[in-house]
Amino acid sequence: IVPAPVPTVRFSNPPTMYPIASKNVAVIGAGAAGLIAAHELRQEGHKVVVFERENQVGGIWVYNPATESDSLGVDPTRNLIHSSLYASLRTNLPREVMGFRSYPFLYKRGSHRDPRRFPGHREVWEYLKDFAVDFKLCGLVRFGTEVWHVGLMENGKWKVTSRKREGNAYNDRNQEKLDEVYDAVVVCNGHYTEPRPAEIPGVEGWPGKQIHSHNYRDPEPFRDQVVVLIGSAASADDISREIAKVSKEVHIASRSVQNGIIGKLAGYDNIYHHSMIESTQGDGSVAFQEGSVVYADIILHCTGYKYHFPFLETDGIVTVDDNRVGPLYKHIFPPALAPWLSFVGLPWKVVPFPLFEFQSKWIAGTLSGRLSLPSPKEMMADIQAFYSSMEASGTPKRYTHNIAGYQFEYDDWLAAQCGCLPTEEWRKQMYVETSMRKRSQPETYRDQWEDEHLVRQAEADFSQYFS
Ligand code: FAD
Repeated sequence: IVPAPVPTVRFSNPPTMYPIASKNVAVIGAGAAGLIAAHELRQEGHKVVVFERENQVGGIWVYNPATESDSLGVDPTRNLIHSSLYASLRTNLPREVMGFRSYPFLYKRGSHRDPRRFPGHREVWEYLKDFAVDFKLCGLVRFGTEVWHVGLMENGKWKVTSRKREGNAYNDRNQEKLDEVYDAVVVCNGHYTEPRPAEIPGVEGWPGKQIHSHNYRDPEPFRDQVVVLIGSAASADDISREIAKVSKEVHIASRSVQNGIIGKLAGYDNIYHHSMIESTQGDGSVAFQEGSVVYADIILHCTGYKYHFPFLETDGIVTVDDNRVGPLYKHIFPPALAPWLSFVGLPWKVVPFPLFEFQSKWIAGTLSGRLSLPSPKEMMADIQAFYSSMEASGTPKRYTHNIAGYQFEYDDWLAAQCGCLPTEEWRKQMYVETSMRKRSQPETYRDQWEDEHLVRQAEADFSQYFS
């Protein structure tokens, strides 16, 4: 079943209805987060410049077949590739759930378009390009321009230093730079580019190859190999099944594996579940905590990424500690610098685009003075209470921005701050149904579903955008 193509769509910028104080705002990044931030900021009446080091909008959704010179992604001098997409990637959310609320992710006719409900990555890129064109955002973006440094000035403003990209070279420290002053900075640089490989005892002397999923594009390099894949998140699931088609064996090592499922994966001849890696040896062996040993050729780390803000200098006010970016009020504002510094898109295990949209609305409204924040002291107290509750429940710091358990409460809290409608019920239900299907039928959940009634509700909701 494919959704019907879209008729004429009207997307306009409705006039701003309230008195506002317009600020000069720098947005770093023109991925999904930076685009919606730019849109909401401009809607609120701010002057916006978006810095984007690539030559196009879309961020991670601009597929790049090239890989980095260090396949594990730890060498700071490696050639940097922003996108982590692999060639066969299809979305893990249905398009109805995934799209911005103000700009539904609908199927449009066209030679590059993918009508599927869980489309391939190119369709998401096309959607983001459409969004940028329909809302006339491209004129706000300085393409091929990297933000090199962001620093706080004595008068409370921000000095933003940028430089034009020349060829592929970002590492030339002598390249000419431009300094500008902004009232506020919104950081939207993404967090799927700086790999966070697993620490493996003995791996320095292990003779095989190591790759992080950031540099995984297709299964060919794994042909006839024995592969140990570390991880259990969505991309680990997809990639293990894809490489199992060509490799000799795939051994999945994961922290969260339950004893009952250690051993061969049902329905596959060559995929095995293990507990975490205990050690690796110079003879090529990999020992797992449950006691089994394999001789492997490649270790593939599907272990996630680090938050990384190499350009940001806040005199120690904002730090990254074991992947906790903090202190941040509601994952957005450092109390001491609010609302003049903010972050869009830090939460993970969420429906990202609508969440970015709520965050951006809130940031835009607080910058204009239309919405108000609690005092810095109150915001700090809220953050401390949050950190204490994490500690009390034994949740590691690195899960600070994993808001899977309360993402819709979070979105709806933001919606209430902004005075807009909470997340649609159909979207919540469709998300839950998809998550269940993903677990029960991981190979087929993208092509077989039973939530057609929710699709109809979504379409009825979207019809307000069609003329
Ligand atoms: P990005 O898209 O990474 O954009 C950041 C932008 O900032 C980039 O364009 C980059 O060039 C620019 N930038 C960075 N540093 C600088 C600098 N110093 N100066 C100037 N520009 C800079 N989400 C879904 O909704 N559905 C999915 O199915 C889905 N699948 C995913 C699969 C994978 C493998 C991954 C890694 C993520 C997936 N996501 C998915 C999540 C996805 O990351 C988000 O949907 C979203 O696109 C992130 O947008 P962003 O703008 O925060 O970051």
